[in-house]
Amino acid sequence: MTIQAIIKKAVKRLELEGKLLTPDFYAEAFCKEATKAGINTEDCSHVKKFTSTLNKDFQKELTQYHIKSMSELARFLISKLNRTNSSHCADLLESNTVFTKRVLQVVEVLHNRQASEMAKKSLDLLSREASPSEIDQYRQLWVNFITTYDDTFLTKLHSLGDIDTKDLKSSIENLNINDSSAGLAHSMELSSIASLLVSSLVPSIASSVNDKIAGISEKIKKNPSLLESVSIESEIKSAISLRIALDKESVKEMVESLDGVLDKLSLRLIDMIESSDKSTKEIQHIKSELEAYNEEPITNFKVAHKKLYTIAIALEENTQALSKNLKSHSTEVKALSLKIEKLESELEQSREESKEDFLTKLYNKRALDEFMSLKEAEYERYGHNFSIVMFDIDFFKAVNDNHGHDAGDAILTAFAKILKSEARNVDIVGRFGGEEFMAILESTDASGGVIFAEKVRKKVQKAKFMYKQTRIELTVSAGVCERKNNSSLQNTINSADESLYKAKKDGRNRVVKK
Ligand code: GH3
Ligand code: MG
Ligand code: MG
Repeated sequence: MTIQAIIKKAVKRLELEGKLLTPDFYAEAFCKEATKAGINTEDCSHVKKFTSTLNKDFQKELTQYHIKSMSELARFLISKLNRTNSSHCADLLESNTVFTKRVLQVVEVLHNRQASEMAKKSLDLLSREASPSEIDQYRQLWVNFITTYDDTFLTKLHSLGDIDTKDLKSSIENLNINDSSAGLAHSMELSSIASLLVSSLVPSIASSVNDKIAGISEKIKKNPSLLESVSIESEIKSAISLRIALDKESVKEMVESLDGVLDKLSLRLIDMIESSDKSTKEIQHIKSELEAYNEEPITNFKVAHKKLYTIAIALEENTQALSKNLKSHSTEVKALSLKIEKLESELEQSREESKEDFLTKLYNKRALDEFMSLKEAEYERYGHNFSIVMFDIDFFKAVNDNHGHDAGDAILTAFAKILKSEARNVDIVGRFGGEEFMAILESTDASGGVIFAEKVRKKVQKAKFMYKQTRIELTVSAGVCERKNNSSLQNTINSADESLYKAKKDGRNRVVKK
């Protein structure tokens, strides 16, 4: 590769790296390209050659400063030479630092945020005696800043007038900001406020505008700039309170008027509700009238008043028609309701009084429950023991199935008779339900209960139950339990039931006690 080609490449490299064509940058770029091309020029190794001849301390210091070019090396050596008088060096360094600081302070207050931030950081760097490498890093940042600085954006401000990018202050002072247009905008603003104010002074409920309000409105409308004067303020205030007063007065009148109509209306309604609870077509009509009335916006109070009055008349007519109708039927209705009342009380009485089983004429379940409660109360108060015997006819379903339901009924009646005849007159016997019977045995323990149950069982076994000349064989099982052995009445009943279940399980036709 020719030297010319390397020179071209070096210039290109500088362009790409965004560096200026200074002798130092150029020399650096040239040497890089030459090395890349494998050409060894003496110029590029000068720095290395001379550096190696310096003493070790200087060599070390040189690497810290990243010295790459001969001119940098020369500057380094010159500064070393100049520093022969150390106090002079220190003074110079200090005045340089102070000077740099001032410049940075100025940059900091300029109108470029990037420069201002960098100035701030650089100032900080100088005040804490940063290392040469840190300073060098900032030096590079400043180089970058100035090489990439671009203020062409200022040209975008041309629409505002002539902009001198070198003197923004005078450019801005000369900008075409017209005082008269601001005045126009201001007066337009006032007139829109004036019209808003005037419309807000118009009463929203009261039907007419008061003369005083109209006068003030007219005045403001004609001359909106009046709004700026202090005197108008009190006038506006009094117009606002007048507007509120007018609306209030109107509402008061409406409410009073409505109250009167509604009072009459509610009286009619109460009458009507008292005389009939039926929802007639008339009432539905009135209802829909009221609904429709709700949907319409009330623009005029007189219309609302008229509507309510019409509704009141309709209600009145309706009430009269209803009461007439009711009067003609009232005697009939009265007689009927008396009859119903009487029948109801008779039914209730008979239902309450009935303690007898309709088929067997023994006590029914209801009576048995009452007796059990009574015996329980006596047990709790006096400690009177009692036993409960539960009977259940064996294979009774088969009786029904083989001989018919009537035969079953007859057997139930016959069994009831046996039960009754075996019991003492103080014992209570009844039908608990279906083919189940119960005996409540006063002052009897479980073994006494078993004796009674056994008597019944044997009698049943021996008895000749006849139905339509057919003999029906019958047996019965029983479960016995005494109150004393249980914690409650319900437990006693349950225990008797469990014993009965055991008797069935053990083969039927037997008595089991707990
Ligand atoms: P178990 O030995 O296990 O007691 O057998 P069961 O057939 O007696 O017992 P189940 O409970 O199976 O049948 C009872 C039958 O009693 C069924 C029902 O139709 C009949 N029954 C209940 N009440 C009456 C009634 O008032 N009249 C008649 N004829 N039958 C009744
Ligand atoms: Mg049964
Ligand atoms: Mg049975």
